[in-house]
Amino acid sequence: MLLIACPWCGPRDEAEFHYGPEAHHDHPADPALLSDEEWGRYLFFHDNTHGPRAERCCHSAGCRRWFHTVRDTAHHEILAVHRIGEPKPETA
Ligand SMILES: [Zn+2]
Repeated sequence: MLLIACPWCGPRDEAEFHYGPEAHHDHPADPALLSDEEWGRYLFFHDNTHGPRAERCCHSAGCRRWFHTVRDTAHHEILAVHRIGEPKPETA
C-alpha cells in the first residue's frame, strides 16, 4: 500500500487518488499557431524519467483537488507533494 499525503487531507491510501499527467507540461498559449508536428509533440512526447518525476494527482475519493507530486519512478516512492502554484520542493 502506498500512502499519498494530500496537501489538504493528509496521508491516504493510493486507491483514493487518480493519476494525472506530467506536471509542469504547460498547455501552449495559442495551439492554433502550432504545426501538426508541434501539436503532436505536445500531446504525445513526454519525459520518460527514471527517478524523480513531477506528476499531477487528484484526490478523487476525498477532497477532489488536484496537486503535484514528485515520484521516484524507479522505486514508486512519493518524495514530495505540493499544491499547484506553490514552489516545487527540493528533493534529494
Ligand atoms: Zn484531499
